Amino acid sequence: MANTYTQLSTPFIIVGPCSVESEAQILATAQALAQIPQVKMLRGGIWKPRTRPDAFEGRGEQGLVWLREAKQATGLPTITEVATPEHVELALKYEVDALWIGARTVVNPFSVQQLADALRGTDVPVFIKNPVAPDLQLWIGAFERFQKVGVTKLAAIHRGFSYYKESPYRNAPMWEIPIELTQRLNVPIITDISHICGNRELLQATAQKALDLATDGLMIECHINPAEALTDAKQQITPEELKTMLSNLTFRSKQSGIVERDLAGLRSEIDDIDAELLQLLARRMEVSAQIGEYKKQNNVTVVQMDRWKKILADHVATGADLGLSEEMITEIFEAIHQESIERQSRIMETDGDTH
Ligand code: PEP
Ligand code: MN
Repeated sequence: MANTYTQLSTPFIIVGPCSVESEAQILATAQALAQIPQVKMLRGGIWKPRTRPDAFEGRGEQGLVWLREAKQATGLPTITEVATPEHVELALKYEVDALWIGARTVVNPFSVQQLADALRGTDVPVFIKNPVAPDLQLWIGAFERFQKVGVTKLAAIHRGFSYYKESPYRNAPMWEIPIELTQRLNVPIITDISHICGNRELLQATAQKALDLATDGLMIECHINPAEALTDAKQQITPEELKTMLSNLTFRSKQSGIVERDLAGLRSEIDDIDAELLQLLARRMEVSAQIGEYKKQNNVTVVQMDRWKKILADHVATGADLGLSEEMITEIFEAIHQESIERQSRIMETDGDTH
């Protein structure tokens, strides 16, 4: 992918409140953040996608006036979320420097296309969050829609994924997905630790993990008074806490991070293959138990040596074609066969057959 945001200076650290709430709040936050040299861009949500109605949905156009004031007061470039062409028009009118597409919007190709069409011919940097669902194709598709209309400054934001299992995270990081994205598309990736964690406690460790995996930057929600925040109060930190966090992070060389990132991708592939192997073994034992039942009904002996010898010889031959040693194939299949025999023998020993 040629047209990506390669001129991004790294680590690119985007900080600011979840939502722009008032003139005083965004100005005070921005002024404190401008004192921290690592902070490169000021974020502020203007239109907030809320799960339930009647929650605070952002200040809209009025918030854009305040965000522009914060930029003028501090010199920090700004970024906000857009979900409709009207948002794009207003954000550009009030000189927002970059836009991000939210996780709930990226799941909908109609919306993404409308946003791409609204940005055709502009030179605005667009940061694309991962969709809420762990769907790499959907994320890639969003990049393609912006590329097709000629948007050249594109970056990814990894903000974690909705997951049905219990997790200490608000959104499960599933690191292998952003890693695979960076292997498929040559895009910088920013890790939104705030929306991954959903709490303050995990932020530091998650930021370090992201840096160890060669992230190009971080997005962190920061509020002058987190306890009073109108959205995402639990995960926001003060500018002072941010300063401490940043000073406790180890920024490694990009190269060692990339080695770690590639390994993490391969390790997660191994984990997936092992999980599949386990499923297959369980299925094999299941079928073997069905054969055991059948043998019992029909008074057939459990071990049929001739068949087993032939199967093993076939597996050794196939294994050799695949570059697998005879020794390994024999050991694995003897263990599997032994377990099958034991299970079938237990079936034979149980009472209650009716033949
Ligand atoms: C946000 O950044 O405040 C936000 C709503 O993000 P996401 O789309 O990742 O939920
Ligand atoms: Mn938020």
